[in-house]
Amino acid sequence: MHKKLFIPGPTEVREDVRKAMDFPMFGHRMPETSELMGSVVEKLQKLLYTENFIIISTSSGTGLMEAASRNCIKNKALHVNCGSFSDRWSSISKACNKDIDILEYEWGKGIHISDIEEKVSTGKYDTVFVTHNQTSTGVMNPIEEIGEMLKDYPDILFCVDAVSSMAGAEIKVDDWNIDFVLASVQKAFALPPGLAIAAASNKAMERSAEAKDKGYYFDFHAFKKYWDKAKQPPTTACLNLIAALNYQLDKVVNKEGIENRFKRHKEMAGLVQDWTRKNFDFFADENYLSPTVTCVKNTRGISVADLNKELGKRGAVISNGYGNLKEKTFRIAHMGDITPDEIKWLLGEIDDIIG
Ligand SMILES: *Cc1c(COP(=O)(O)O)cnc(C)c1O
Repeated sequence: MHKKLFIPGPTEVREDVRKAMDFPMFGHRMPETSELMGSVVEKLQKLLYTENFIIISTSSGTGLMEAASRNCIKNKALHVNCGSFSDRWSSISKACNKDIDILEYEWGKGIHISDIEEKVSTGKYDTVFVTHNQTSTGVMNPIEEIGEMLKDYPDILFCVDAVSSMAGAEIKVDDWNIDFVLASVQKAFALPPGLAIAAASNKAMERSAEAKDKGYYFDFHAFKKYWDKAKQPPTTACLNLIAALNYQLDKVVNKEGIENRFKRHKEMAGLVQDWTRKNFDFFADENYLSPTVTCVKNTRGISVADLNKELGKRGAVISNGYGNLKEKTFRIAHMGDITPDEIKWLLGEIDDIIG
C-alpha cells in the first residue's frame, strides 16, 4: 500500500503531476526546450515576485547551496545558523575553502535581526546566508525584515535557503532585497526530486562574474550564457521533471492561485498547531512557527517509531525528529498539494493510535 507522505520532502506527488512527465523525449537543444523553459521561468518569476534571473538546476537543492557559496562570497561571509540545514550550508562554504564566521542559534530558536546587524555593521562581511524555513526544527525566520535591514548595506549579498518554504509561503524576492534564493522541487512544489530552482539578482550575477574557483556546473554565468542564447540549460537537464514543473506551476499560478496556495498552507499549519497545543508542545519558539512543517516536542514520551509503523498500516507516514532530535520530536509536514481534509484525517488517525 502506498503511504501518503506527510514528511518534509519528498512530499506527496499527485497522479496528474506524475503523468505530466510521461511524453516522448525531445532534445535539450531543440525548440521544444526553449519553449518549455521560457514558460517555466515566466511563472517562477510570478511566484517569487521577481524580475531576477532564474536558474533551473538538474541537482537537488544542496547543489544550489554550493552554487551560492562558490558564486557569491568574495572575501568573507556570515552564516546565520539555527538548525541542521544551515549547519550544512556553512560546512559547504568551508568545504569550498571560503572564509566564514557563524552566528549560531540554539535549535528551535529563530533569528534576531539586531544580532545580524551587529555583525554586518563591522564591515567584515560581503555575503549573509540565512535559512528561511528550518525544516529540522519547524522554525520560519523573518527574511523580509532581514532583507529590509540589509538595504543599508548595499555591498552585502543576501542569500536565502528557501528549500522547504518556496511555493508554500510568500517570498517577495525583489521587495525583500534577496540576492539569491534557492529551493528544491520535492518539498512545497510537490514534484518528484531532482530539480532545484533559484533567483539571482544583478548584484549576485556581478559578484559571480568576478568570482574565482567557482567551477563550471554551478557557475551562474554558465546558466546565463545558455539562457541568453536560446532559453536552454547549460547541460542536459531532466526535461521530464521541468515539464512536470511547468504543469504544476500552471496549477499553482493560474488555477489555485499563488495567494490561495499560501492561504491553504496557513490553514493546514493552523490545524496541526491547534492539535499540537492540545496534545503535545512545540519544539520551536512559538513566535516563529512554520507554515509548512511543524516539529512536535514529544512531551508524552510516545514511541514515534511505533506510531509511524501503525500509521503505515493505515496509509500514511510522518517524520521522526532530525538527527539528535529523533524520538524527542516528530515532524508533520503540511506542504505541497496536501489538503486540509487530508491533514484532519492524519490527525484523527494519530489520535486514534496514541489514544
Ligand atoms: C530539504 C532541505 C535541504 C536539502 O535539499 P536537497 O534537495 O535534499 O538537497 C536544504 N535546506 C532545507 C531547509 C531543506 O528543507
